[in-house]
Order: sequence, then C-alpha cells, then structure tokens
Amino acid sequence: MSKHMAIGVDIGGTKMALATVNANGEIGHRIQLPTQADLGFERAVQRLAEAVEILLHRSQSSLDALVAIGVGCAGPVDPIEGLINNPYTLGGWDRCDIVSPLRELFGRPVFLENDADAAALGEHWVGAGRDQDPIVMLTFGTGVGGGVILGGEIYRGIAGEHPELGHLSVDPNGAKCYCGTHGCLESIASGTAIGEAGARIGIGDARAVFAAEGAGRCEAQEIVSRAVAATASAAWTVAHTFLPQSLVLGGGLMEEHFDLFIGPIRSLLEGATQFTPSNLRIVKAVLGNDAGIIGAARLAWKAGA
Ligand SMILES: [Zn+2]
Repeated sequence: MSKHMAIGVDIGGTKMALATVNANGEIGHRIQLPTQADLGFERAVQRLAEAVEILLHRSQSSLDALVAIGVGCAGPVDPIEGLINNPYTLGGWDRCDIVSPLRELFGRPVFLENDADAAALGEHWVGAGRDQDPIVMLTFGTGVGGGVILGGEIYRGIAGEHPELGHLSVDPNGAKCYCGTHGCLESIASGTAIGEAGARIGIGDARAVFAAEGAGRCEAQEIVSRAVAATASAAWTVAHTFLPQSLVLGGGLMEEHFDLFIGPIRSLLEGATQFTPSNLRIVKAVLGNDAGIIGAARLAWKAGA
C-alpha cells in the first residue's frame, strides 16, 4: 500500500491535538487529549503514542500508510536536535527528546518545530497564505508567536531557531518583559498582557476586557487601543524587515477580534513610502486551531514525499 497519510501533532500548554492529514492538507481522523505536562514527559509521549495507534486504527491503515510524523510544540524547541526546551509552559519539559522515542516506536521519520512555525507553514500550505511567498504569520494567544516562510521553508536563524517576533519592541518606555527588553509586542498585545492590564483596573481577564470595550467602557478601550497600536507598530516593522507578500494574523485573539485590529494596521501601512503598500496583503488566518496540526503534517509530507 502506498503511503497516503501523515500525522500532525500540536502540543500546547493545556492540550495535545493530533490528526491524520492527507497529501492535500485535509484532516481525516483527529484526537485531542489534555497535555498534563506535570505528569512528566515520558507519560505524555506514551499517551501520544497510544493516540497515534488509535488514529491508525480508526483510519483502517497500517503503519505502511504512514509517511512520517510532524510535531509542532509550544517553544522554545530545538528543531535540529528534536528537543523541547520549554519548562515555562510545559512544566519540567527541558531538553526533552520527542523525536527519538516516536521514531523508534513507529519506524518513521519524526520532525519537530515550534508551534508558531508549524502554524505559519499550515497557513502557507492550504490557508490564508496559500500561493504567497514570503509570508509572515503572527499568532496571538496566551503569548505572541511568529513564523516566517521563505521559499516554502521555515526561515531559521542561528542554531535553527526562529525569529522571536512576539518580542519586537514597540514601546521603549513600556514595561519590562521577561525577554529582556521593554514594551515588546507580547507584553502589550497578548491575551495574558491584556488580561493582566484588565485585572489591574478590576475588569478581569482578556475576554472581559474585550467585552467591556464593546460595551464602551473607557479603561477597556484604552487597553485594547494600546494592543491595536502595538500590533500596528509591529506590523510596520515586519513589513519593512521581511517585505512579505502576506502578513497573516492568527490565534484565538485574532480569530475573535481581527476586525478591531485590521483598520488601524492598514491605515498605518498605507502611509509607507519605501514599498508599495497595496502589494502587501494583511489577512486573517483561516485554519484556526488546525493550523498547527496541518503545518506539522506538512513537515512530514515535505520530507517524505
Ligand atoms: Zn518580550
């Protein structure tokens, strides 16, 4: 039987999602399970392996059908060595090799990338960035991640790592971030940052801030405007640094509130004189939570096809 299926895995702080994905980027069967990082990395790998077995069974396929397994994981990760180095949101997972055990269990190549890169690759393959190159994707959720796709490949910096676009500084007078500088995009426009700003003035989490913004409450509008301005400023920097054909905005926050962000971003960029602003598409991601799984599967197909 020919190989007709890849498995894409998306590992986040709260859940692991995996699915079979065909050569056209279409999802077949899927499984979602809690990450439970605190139960230990070995246990998580074991549960993932069981889930892969279940997917093979459900798709009535043997291992012969499987081209490879791709994994996108909340970073930092080391894609070259296949290591997850994220004790920050995956408690205790530091220098954890996810590639070797899965490769040994299933006898297929296994690839690991940062989840923001996987999402960018997914949107580039069959999503909002399809047929566009280069593209930059910014993902707004708990944090802000970024991925750059150049010539169909994930752009890599030193040691295979990806540009940390969530930590573009957009306000030198802003609060200090754990990344080492002040006023970076993530520290102003992530769900966590918006929620913390809301909590400081008694509004609540990010969801409550957006609800209060919609209801016309001034303090909430200020928090949201600050996040929007920070994103526009980061988009300006991204546009001038990479000159992408498409800038894709994704993640839960953009999925719900893209309309609040796009106007100010477009009007800022329309004033650019050093390139033709109309050549730059700024678009909302279309694959939602599946972008990571599909992009991870793309890694498998690219290597195995
Ligand atoms: Zn930062």
